[in-house]
Amino acid sequence: MTVPALQIANVHRTYRQGENAVSVLAGVDLSILPGEMVALVAPSGAGKSTLLHIAGLLEHPDQGEVFVGETATAGLDDVARTRLRRSDIGFVYQFHHLLPEFSARENVVLPQRIAGLGVEEASMRAAEILGFLGLSHRIDHRPGELSGGEQQRVAIARAVANTPRLLLADEPTGNLDPGTGEHVFSTLLALVKQSGLAALVATHNLELAARMDRRVTLREGRLVPLP
Ligand code: ADP
Repeated sequence: MTVPALQIANVHRTYRQGENAVSVLAGVDLSILPGEMVALVAPSGAGKSTLLHIAGLLEHPDQGEVFVGETATAGLDDVARTRLRRSDIGFVYQFHHLLPEFSARENVVLPQRIAGLGVEEASMRAAEILGFLGLSHRIDHRPGELSGGEQQRVAIARAVANTPRLLLADEPTGNLDPGTGEHVFSTLLALVKQSGLAALVATHNLELAARMDRRVTLREGRLVPLP
């Protein structure tokens, strides 16, 4: 049986603000297989970011378990969680958050160096991924010299630089015009299918959601499938 890249089991999360308790996640279950791209479509405030943070080991659930591959994470200490996050999870946000002083290639090299790869190897892999994403001709440009769509493709390249098994994306095309967003999304889809990466993508864009393998939404703190 194929091991899911991400498995979330009965996750609960409640925020307390003074007297009030807001139950955001109330028994969330989700399993994503390698090569599967799942759209998370829900209105603002429904808990998408909370779920992405918990899936990305950036936040602890109050209850429940998150498996990344075969690893159960509830009992891990912060050092082990950080290590697992760095090796197995990539993040893409609405804004690219690239380092402005570094070239596209250097932005993709950096996480690999942090993971312990040598300069040559990291540089070759950066060129390979940027090439796959159609950016060979922009490899030595800084973010400020790139278009919005190019910047976001560099951010995707950086997110997958350490060959994670899971990609978490929060409105990855939300800041782009429709045509550019479509291009960036198509590139991301091709990357997922080619690499066997699993992806959970929060989006308000129903057209893009329709092109993913599955769609889910949050209703009263639980995940339910959408058609
Ligand atoms: P979404 O990403 O779908 O817009 P969020 O996960 O950001 O939703 O937020 C879900 C709910 O939880 C909102 O009502 C928000 O105000 C609340 N919330 C999120 N983070 C916190 C926090 N750190 N402290 C208190 N309330 C929070």
